[in-house]
Amino acid sequence: MTHQDAPAATTVVVVGAGLSGLTAARELHRAGVEVLVLEAADRLGGRAMTETSSLGSRVDLGGQWIGHDHHRLKALASELGATQFRMHTAPMPIVVDRSRRVRTWAPSMLMTLLVLVGVEALSRIAKTQRWNATTVEDWLRRVPGRARRLLGVMAYISWTADLDRCSIHAMARSIRQQGGLRTMLATAGGAQESLLAEGMGSLIEGLAAELGSRVLPGRRVASILLGSDGVTVQTAAGEIRAAKVIVTVPPPLIGRITFDPPLPPGRAALASETYMGSVYKGVAVYPRPFWRERISGEFLILDEPGRVVYDTGAPGGPGHLCVLVGGPEARELDRLDAAGRRTAVLGVLADYLGPEVLEPASWHEKSWHLDEFVGGGYVALALPGTSSGIPPVESAPVGDIHWAGTETARDHPGYLEGAIESGTRVAREVVEVLAASR
Ligand SMILES: Cc1cc2nc3c(=O)[nH]c(=O)nc-3n(C[C@H](O)[C@H](O)[C@H](O)COP(=O)(O)OP(=O)(O)OC[C@H]3O[C@@H](n4cnc5c(N)ncnc54)[C@H](O)[C@@H]3O)c2cc1C
Repeated sequence: MTHQDAPAATTVVVVGAGLSGLTAARELHRAGVEVLVLEAADRLGGRAMTETSSLGSRVDLGGQWIGHDHHRLKALASELGATQFRMHTAPMPIVVDRSRRVRTWAPSMLMTLLVLVGVEALSRIAKTQRWNATTVEDWLRRVPGRARRLLGVMAYISWTADLDRCSIHAMARSIRQQGGLRTMLATAGGAQESLLAEGMGSLIEGLAAELGSRVLPGRRVASILLGSDGVTVQTAAGEIRAAKVIVTVPPPLIGRITFDPPLPPGRAALASETYMGSVYKGVAVYPRPFWRERISGEFLILDEPGRVVYDTGAPGGPGHLCVLVGGPEARELDRLDAAGRRTAVLGVLADYLGPEVLEPASWHEKSWHLDEFVGGGYVALALPGTSSGIPPVESAPVGDIHWAGTETARDHPGYLEGAIESGTRVAREVVEVLAASR
């Protein structure tokens, strides 16, 4: 369908073709409801994005891991015929500081462990609101020596936040929601347990294929007008009338859509009280995972930019090393050109894995904070001293406007699993309201 021949009216418009929007649209379509998905970008998937390497393997630049208890995501992958495989992982990553390996039982490692035990205990305290004005940065200042840097890098990677813009309260809530630190950080039994050989993009493609011409990329929704009998959704290519609209854009981006009448103050605050994290992801692809016989491919590197490296290649396929840099150090990489970034993030690995690590057959990268329509990743973050943006964020309908997106999920908000949960929930909600109004 071209821009010109989109229908002028439908029953439900979904704003955003990420995993939540496509899930919602497919559920509605299966329930016999007319639906159109409007996506601002020229590609589908939002925070899920897969490229194909020069060796033919699929490379996830956005969301990729399937957690141990991410049942909806596993079920969708099975339904769409994607191949799930477990991470190839070591019990502990190799920690590198100033190009040297840090011993497992070094005092800084023990101190880090001690602090993590404290953080875990704190996350179990129900009332952490009184730490809503205290930032993670304030708190880390009290930790001595290398342990502070180690914890800082772990926090950057885990939350992609600027640590002076992330409260202890928000951090504690996020740990609790994610089932504790161990679940959050672990591969086996945790949130990084398995991957898809075909990449998350294969799920996006599968959902979009079922919806066909009902999905329209290159359609940024500029405004939503609420009338007495439905909504008018406006884009540069024209407007569409609908009975209901489902907004799935990340909370900070809600502020870029004009609502008429304006959203109630509480709901509008969600956009101004949240921001997207900064995250850079790079994936190097090699003909084979040449390091595996000698050494684990998992690293936590404290030299700037602080980064983690995972071995994410599928069994029998090319070797993949996936590098994540979070927070302000991810933005620092924007000053370099692509070759400079590649050297900056792969550099120190040559000392451990050999010089061939610097010459991948295929190199893929994305700075998510530069993505115009997603704004960053992994997830929306609440500003210190505020609470509306702490997931799950408010999702009660405002008139004919319904809300989804991973940040609204009750179960695993922030994850792909949460995106599916929210899409399924909102579709059910809309079907019920439509049935009641007949
Ligand atoms: C680098 C990175 C790594 C991650 N790793 C993992 C992981 O390993 N496991 C995991 O479970 N999760 C991970 N996540 C999080 C996961 O990707 C997200 O939770 C999930 O993809 C969110 O889906 P969504 O549909 O809620 O939102 P989105 O994917 O953000 O979809 C929203 C869509 O709305 C569109 N949009 C915005 N404004 C407009 C507008 N005005 N008009 C029309 N369309 C608009 C956007 O372009 C986007 O396509 C990661 C995310 C990132 C960025």
